[in-house]
Amino acid sequence: MKINRICCIGAGYVGGPTMAVIALKCPKIKVTVVDINQNRIDAWNGAYNQLPVYEPGLAEVVKLTRGRNLFFSNQIDKVIEESEIIFMAVNTPTKNKGEGAGMAADLKYVEACAKNIAQVAKTDKIVVEKSTLPVRTAEKIKEILITHGRNDVHFEILSNPEFLAEGTAIQDLFKSDRVLIGGDNTLTGQLAVKALFDIYSQWIPKEKILKTNVWSSELSKLASNAMLAQRISSINSLSALCEKTGADIDELSKAIGMDHRIGPKFLRASVGFGGSCFQKDILNLVYLCKYYGLHEVAEYWLQIIKINDYQKNRFAQKIIDGLGGDVNQKKIALLGWSFKPNTNDSRESPAINVAVNLLNKGAYLNIFDPKVDEINIRKDISKLSSKTSFQVYRDLNLSIKDVNSVAIISGWKEFLRIDSVENIIFNGSFLKFKNFKYKIGK
Ligand code: ADP
Repeated sequence: MKINRICCIGAGYVGGPTMAVIALKCPKIKVTVVDINQNRIDAWNGAYNQLPVYEPGLAEVVKLTRGRNLFFSNQIDKVIEESEIIFMAVNTPTKNKGEGAGMAADLKYVEACAKNIAQVAKTDKIVVEKSTLPVRTAEKIKEILITHGRNDVHFEILSNPEFLAEGTAIQDLFKSDRVLIGGDNTLTGQLAVKALFDIYSQWIPKEKILKTNVWSSELSKLASNAMLAQRISSINSLSALCEKTGADIDELSKAIGMDHRIGPKFLRASVGFGGSCFQKDILNLVYLCKYYGLHEVAEYWLQIIKINDYQKNRFAQKIIDGLGGDVNQKKIALLGWSFKPNTNDSRESPAINVAVNLLNKGAYLNIFDPKVDEINIRKDISKLSSKTSFQVYRDLNLSIKDVNSVAIISGWKEFLRIDSVENIIFNGSFLKFKNFKYKIGK
């Protein structure tokens, strides 16, 4: 099957970078990213001086491809109709009401998107799940497509989860460890798998493209994220023990990571993991296990989130303890707002919990992040606290002037400079949270 036009619904952190790289690597395919958010589309089209997603290398890829074979549009119906493959990269937050609230993924955006495709499509389509989704979502999408679609149109659903890590998305897309394509074991299913395989094999070695059934592909994504988060919670739990015993968590990480069976990645203590995927995926996994009556398995994975919450609270408490047990009226610089360095994404960032915790105890915060917009920082805080005793800085040096302490939440390289002057006293005490310098995410 020859593919000439691809559409991606959702111009966010997944859709934007992924499609930019597909467009770069497949110059003969017209790739159009659509979104209901006009502002986002305008931003991708260069209306503002920055793209809506910050990723090292992304702007360069967009510059090369935009207007050549990469397009951003809000004409969703038209683009769906003219495309042979439609990727769904819409948001799938955790449900906040109804059955499974606080745990299961809210599929309303995915469902709306599937309905949209069904109602518009006049020719056969391959629909690719790109968003992180609970296992067996493909079945649900298929049901919607069949119910709302025309009888003479055939839809083939593939699962092709995105494994990119924010902050290194472009490199990850260029050199993926693996690409997973899950499809039905039918003739049309396998033809669809082959069509997507042919796209990725333009730049990914064929042996790294795994063909699986749809459910294995869906579950692999949840399981991969759960295993990564588990490493972070494991090392973070040990950081608490290190502080009690006098062992050094950095030394411990190094020693553990040198075992080739374990390896060094995702083994640095931090304030906790964040990002839009880890917590959501683990909660999905927990929900799924409970649904199938696997209560011990559910409890096991839930503990990873509990340790993450514990670590965030512990970090805030360390700041409070370091300032004599009371932060009321004290000024604290909080450096790093995104959930990890090299991204402007602050979804589920531990910085939010730490900030809210301190604000609620009367602290005054100076917040600095190299990439996160002030508007987003304000939104993040206002969802959890009505406190306004904070200021957002665009200048690192100003943000740390005359504060009682500086707390480094994530490892932007700009902050390393500060770390090297640990003895400088900022109008009080400089707290060097050695164990918490780096954060690793998604
Ligand atoms: P992710 O990190 O998964 O990419 P984002 O929230 O960054 O998530 O992006 C998802 C995008 O999907 C948002 O820009 C949102 O406006 C868009 N979106 C959600 N539902 C629809 C829909 N039905 N049609 C088009 N775009 C949608």
